[in-house]
Amino acid sequence: MRIDVLTIFPEMFDALNASIIARAKQANLVDIKVTDIRPFSASKHKNTDDYPFGGGAGMVMTAQPIADAIKAVTGSGFQGLRVFMSPRGVPLDQALVKKLSQEPRLMILCGHYEGVDERVLEHYIDLEISIGDYVLTGGELPAMVTIDSVVRLLEGVLGDDNSAQEESFSDDLLLEYPHYTRPREFEGLEVPEVLLNGNHAAIDTWRRQQRLLVTARRRPDLLKKAKLTPKDIAFLTQEGLL
Ligand code: SAM
Repeated sequence: MRIDVLTIFPEMFDALNASIIARAKQANLVDIKVTDIRPFSASKHKNTDDYPFGGGAGMVMTAQPIADAIKAVTGSGFQGLRVFMSPRGVPLDQALVKKLSQEPRLMILCGHYEGVDERVLEHYIDLEISIGDYVLTGGELPAMVTIDSVVRLLEGVLGDDNSAQEESFSDDLLLEYPHYTRPREFEGLEVPEVLLNGNHAAIDTWRRQQRLLVTARRRPDLLKKAKLTPKDIAFLTQEGLL
C-alpha cells in the first residue's frame, strides 16, 4: 500500500520511524510519503493560511497550495481514497480501519489552525475522518493514528496475521482478554491457574469468557452489537450480565 500525507509540519512524521511501522516500511509492505504543502504556495512568502471571510477567530488554510500539492501527489487516474482528518468527520473505528487497509492508496490531508478552505474539501476529498470527539491542534496526530491502525492490518506486518483478528474490536466486536507473562507470582498476585495447565480448549473457553466479561462491564454499548453465540449468551445470563 502507498500512503501520501500532506502537511505543513512534515517533521512530525518522524514518529513513524520506529517500531512496527518502521519495519513495515523497511520490508516494503507500505510506502509512506510525507509532502510539505508550503513549497506549493504561489505567494511570495510561501504563506499557507489567511484570515477567514466573514471574520472570526483564527486563520484558515488557503486552497491554492493544498490543491496544487494534492494534484502533484495524486497525479492523473489516482486509485484510492483521499482523506481529510477533521473533528466533523466519520468516527475512526476498527471497521473503517479495515476498509482503509483494503485501499491500494491513501492520501491524507492534515488541517491546521481553524481548518481548510471548504472548496478544497469539496473538490479533492472523498472522506473526512475524526479520531474522536475532541479537538487537536492539527491533523498530524490523527493522521498518524490512522496510519498506524491501518498499516498493522496489512498482510505480513504483524508477525502472526491472526494476532490482529483476536484483538479488541475485531470481527466479533468484543474487547480483548487479560494477558499475563512471567513471573507466575507478582506482588502476591497469581496468574490464573487455567493458563498454566496446557489445556488449550479450557484456555480458549476462559479467554472467550473474559472477553465477554470485560466487554459487558466496560463497554455495554459494544456488547449490544457483538456477535454472540448461544454459549456466550448462556454464560452472560448466568453471570447476570444479560
Ligand atoms: N475549527 C475546527 C473545529 O472546530 O472543528 C478545529 C480545527 S483543529 C484546531 C485543526 C485541525 O486539526 C483540523 O482541521 C483537523 O485537520 C485536525 N483535527 C483536530 N481534531 C481532530 C480530530 N478529533 N480528528 C481528526 N482531525 C482533527
